Amino acid sequence: MSKVLNDLIESLKCLPGVGPKSATRMAYYLLQRDPNGAKNLANSILNSFKLLGKCKSCNNFCETTICDLCLDQSRDNSVLCIIEMPTDLLMFEQTHSYDGLYYILMGRLSPLDGIGPKELDMNSLYERCKDENIQEIIIATNFTKEGDATSTFITELVKDLNKKISRIARGMPSGSEIEYTDTGTLAQAISERKNIN
Ligand SMILES: [Zn+2]
Repeated sequence: MSKVLNDLIESLKCLPGVGPKSATRMAYYLLQRDPNGAKNLANSILNSFKLLGKCKSCNNFCETTICDLCLDQSRDNSVLCIIEMPTDLLMFEQTHSYDGLYYILMGRLSPLDGIGPKELDMNSLYERCKDENIQEIIIATNFTKEGDATSTFITELVKDLNKKISRIARGMPSGSEIEYTDTGTLAQAISERKNIN
């Protein structure tokens, strides 16, 4: 096989979930069926690395020092929601039920993968939480082992700032029936029930 082609296949293998077989298929597809798409892809990747940086306030990718969302005066700057990934931000925004600010960890604590507090730059998070405007910190890491551990770590980290700290509730999925809900979710739902009168 041509070395150039082999390099392309090797490069495609860096995508999540792409093994040698899919990488080979993708390479042939790009070369044969969609050369324009391939060129656009290559340019977009190069441009992203050239132009994108991290927002100094929320850590999300953007082309400016502070991103548009953080600068948006209509948002409530007294609440800071801590999430794992930029995709989580998109999900929360789609709910239209949160108008505070975010801080993106860009991962979660995972000692087995060598990701500790230093790798996640917990110091920057602490500095962000210190902001005197912020009165409530909502921890919205995933409900996985690592996400829960990260949540516990952050709770301890920001405890001395004396701000309200909350964790998003593990609810029943909307439209779900109790009979078909897993016991973990149901146990959480009953223990985190809220007053309605
Ligand atoms: Zn931002």
